[in-house]
Amino acid sequence: MRLTVLGSGSAFSTCGCNAGYLVDGRVLVDCGAPVPALVRRAATSIHAITLILLTHFHADHSFTLPTILGARAFADVTSAGMLVIGGPVGTREYVSRLLGDGYGSHIRNEVDVNVAPVYAVLQDGSDVELAGYRVQSHAVVHSTGPSLAYRVTDANGVSIGFSGDSEMCGGLRRSIAGCDLFVCECTGWDGPTPGGHLWSDEVAGLMVENPGTRFLLSHLAERHPLPGALVAHDMLSLEISSVAT
Ligand SMILES: [Zn+2]
Repeated sequence: MRLTVLGSGSAFSTCGCNAGYLVDGRVLVDCGAPVPALVRRAATSIHAITLILLTHFHADHSFTLPTILGARAFADVTSAGMLVIGGPVGTREYVSRLLGDGYGSHIRNEVDVNVAPVYAVLQDGSDVELAGYRVQSHAVVHSTGPSLAYRVTDANGVSIGFSGDSEMCGGLRRSIAGCDLFVCECTGWDGPTPGGHLWSDEVAGLMVENPGTRFLLSHLAERHPLPGALVAHDMLSLEISSVAT
């Protein structure tokens, strides 16, 4: 399972693009980074993406989605397959609003006709197969709701988890269990950060609680080392195998 970090920075960070993660070149988790350009640098294409998962509706996780949909709507590519967009309740309405506010009803209609995304409403406890991956969802606590953490598992049983944005909560803890790699937000470094985020001491505690899971710190306001963890940077690409193999 290959993970490519498109954006490792927090909402107002200058140390990396906003959130975006690519799994196997086909699954996109969050759309804050300038995805269309970065997927080319990752030697793939937005037309290869079959599943987009939104963790929540903040701008740094979603504002590039209209450009992805517009690019697919107007591309002269006939091989693009079905696109599933999964997210919290309200995702369809949120995406429609983004398209309409960003580009107007004409582009929204082009997307509806030429892309025709299929929406999957996800919520706490959802455990579904989407685009060939098992997707498990856990509600987390953030400054906007609803917000979800995801665990994405491939056909070989390899799992990558994504915290989204979250303060310490039960849903976050449940989302880590069993993951081979957990992409964990670490917005704060020296102390608690307002807005429903984690900071380094809390992440260090989660690592102690989950010794079988590798942690990749992301959504960073600044970049520091944390013993035992990987620290993300934009365009970092990792091949993830199961801890059992
Ligand atoms: Zn964020």
